[in-house]
Amino acid sequence: MNHGAGRFAPSPSGELHVGNLRTALLAWLFARSTGRRFILRVEDLDRARAGAEAVQLRDLAAVGLDWDGEVVRQTERGALYDDAIARLTAAGLTYECYCTRREIQEAPSAPHAPQGAYPGTCRDLTEAQRARRRAERPAAIRLSAGVTEWAVTDGLHGRYTGVVDDFVLRRNDGVVAYNLAVVVDDAAQGVDQVVRGDDLLPSTPRQAYLAGLLGVRVPSYAHVPLVLNPAGRRLAKRDGAVTLGALALLGVPAEQVTALLLESLGLPGALGDALRDFRPEALPRDPWVLHPAALTARARPRELSG
Ligand SMILES: [Zn+2]
Repeated sequence: MNHGAGRFAPSPSGELHVGNLRTALLAWLFARSTGRRFILRVEDLDRARAGAEAVQLRDLAAVGLDWDGEVVRQTERGALYDDAIARLTAAGLTYECYCTRREIQEAPSAPHAPQGAYPGTCRDLTEAQRARRRAERPAAIRLSAGVTEWAVTDGLHGRYTGVVDDFVLRRNDGVVAYNLAVVVDDAAQGVDQVVRGDDLLPSTPRQAYLAGLLGVRVPSYAHVPLVLNPAGRRLAKRDGAVTLGALALLGVPAEQVTALLLESLGLPGALGDALRDFRPEALPRDPWVLHPAALTARARPRELSG
């Protein structure tokens, strides 16, 4: 028995599509195949839509996933995030930033700074400058990072080095930034295995670096390939019937979606068999290109109602 946990952490911005469900299946397989707990966390600090959470949980259960304990919502955890920011501030590791997005774009970047990195404009302001700018605009809180890059080890990508700049911990509208919330939550929930889409790999060095500053364990990472549409772009709801709700209307039951997703991973189509055969090293490393017809081909003939 492993005492750690894996997790799936959707944003309740709408229905999950089959790409999201495939990532959830993978996170579940990684956790369950290693004896870990599997938890669900609703990342609702931003982009929450009324009713979406209930539909997402229903769909995750419909594809066969189970989870441990209560579902946690980030909007209920403000005190934990406040405490983490207070600890970093007490250690001299934060500062206020008054920059608009435009000011950041137009600022001359520091020598050797990577593209998109915060140029450090507000890092060394005097107290008088701070007072003046504070009166103009609410401040965001940034981390005062002591490095410009950091390396992580990923189960699928190997060693990965990425940018660490003075990233935002709390936005100027008061909302806690994803990079802070995810690190605090994973640590508080005993998550030691993070499996998610590989679009999040570039932000992982920031999170691992922050975990070190907060004195919490850096989890193991596996960033899994995304699902693409036939044009090669990340699958989205506009690509057709790609949610369980839309597929059900076309006569495709959830267990057929599960089977297709598992087969796309080179696994047997029943979840129990897939768990038995699951080996991370055998997973496909390339994105899966989904042709919507592959889903609707799974439709069952409709029973005639008498
Ligand atoms: Zn600034």
